[in-house]
Amino acid sequence: MLTGLKCSRCSKKIDAPVCILCMTDSMESWFDNKKISLHKAFKEEVRNFMNKSTKGRRVTCDICRSQTNYNVCQACFTKHIFTWLGNQDKKLAVEFVKRFTESSSRLIA
Ligand SMILES: [Zn+2]
Ligand SMILES: [Zn+2]
Repeated sequence: MLTGLKCSRCSKKIDAPVCILCMTDSMESWFDNKKISLHKAFKEEVRNFMNKSTKGRRVTCDICRSQTNYNVCQACFTKHIFTWLGNQDKKLAVEFVKRFTESSSRLIA
């Protein structure tokens, strides 16, 4: 059991940590389905996000069971990608946020 794991960005408690790879996985297939050629730019942005994130505790990803020490919640990650996408294509960013915030409805204040 994990106790007291907090997101390094928003300080909210993380109940089930998910590694960045698992988070980007569903987003990548979404981009693919949309036939949008943002794949490369998206990958670069993810790398960018990781570089800017401070590493924290080593935890096990709830989905793929690999070890990760980026303690970032899905809401913060989605928000980051949303902001980035908004600079490329506003309409697409809105679609994106609709698709990826079904499970985290508190994302847009
Ligand atoms: Zn967060
Ligand atoms: Zn994972």
